[in-house]
Amino acid sequence: MKLLRVNVKKIEKVAKDIYRLNFTFPYIAKRSLPGHFLHVRIIHTILRRPFSINKVEGNDVFILFKVRGKGTHILSGYKKGSSLDILGPLGRPFTIERNTFPILVAGGMGIAPLLYLAQKLNRFRKKGYTGWLFFGVKKKNELILRSEFVKLGFRIFVATQDGSVGFKGMVTELLERKLKSSQIQALPRIYACGPKDMIYNLGEILKKYPSVEGEASWEQFMGCGLGICLGCVIATKRGYKRVCTEGPVFNIKDVF
Ligand SMILES: Cc1cc2nc3c(=O)[nH]c(=O)nc-3n(C[C@H](O)[C@H](O)[C@H](O)COP(=O)(O)OP(=O)(O)OC[C@H]3O[C@@H](n4cnc5c(N)ncnc54)[C@H](O)[C@@H]3O)c2cc1C
Repeated sequence: MKLLRVNVKKIEKVAKDIYRLNFTFPYIAKRSLPGHFLHVRIIHTILRRPFSINKVEGNDVFILFKVRGKGTHILSGYKKGSSLDILGPLGRPFTIERNTFPILVAGGMGIAPLLYLAQKLNRFRKKGYTGWLFFGVKKKNELILRSEFVKLGFRIFVATQDGSVGFKGMVTELLERKLKSSQIQALPRIYACGPKDMIYNLGEILKKYPSVEGEASWEQFMGCGLGICLGCVIATKRGYKRVCTEGPVFNIKDVF
């Protein structure tokens, strides 16, 4: 982990209220793993804001963020050359099991860390799909980055709550249907990021498939990001855990 000062190389609008920003820093590009996050100081705010690493290309590191409140609103106004103060990479990353079939499950902005994971998983692709991506959103204009997952060998299943495209309903319902009806050659392994309700539903599905493991990246309000302030603890079956240091990635069965 390092405290870095970098300059924004590019910031682009990906969809309504969603931006992607990148900067060059070889240390993070080489040392980070999918699920790691960066703690970013944004001007005029007191606490840093956590963002997952979205992808790495060469020495360039990307974050993808949605404007939610003051910090992300200010960050969306940063320009090429703006200075960024970053702490990272932080947290516990996803566990990559090579001999399983990866099933990525994203709810809304939960897509952010899964692209970096897809990049790493693609390196193990032998033939056929690298894995599946189940992507659930409220409406179709939130379906971002799909072409990047396709390039990495992922088959995509879409669920929208308003039925504007793909399956109408929750992404976890769609996943359960596919698990029941499909013959998957290798043992599936679930990697998820999204709202807590989605992860809870995944926990319920995993109870029906005891041999399938699943990990999810948790989003929680965060203070220091270093395990000191205890501002981000969640209750797990193994006691209270800090999302910033013992997470953000947890085994779903340890929580639900
Ligand atoms: C490990 C981790 C990784 C994350 N990665 C990403 C990412 O890649 N892209 C992204 O867009 N966001 C990500 N988030 C959430 C992001 O940190 C918050 O959206 C951001 O801090 C909001 O800051 P703000 O000042 O704009 O909003 P604030 O003014 O602080 O809050 C505005 C509203 O945003 C929501 N919010 C704020 N913080 C969180 C949070 N931590 N979790 C859920 N909802 C929150 C609440 O509804 C709140 O009322 C991540 C969070 C964590 C813990």
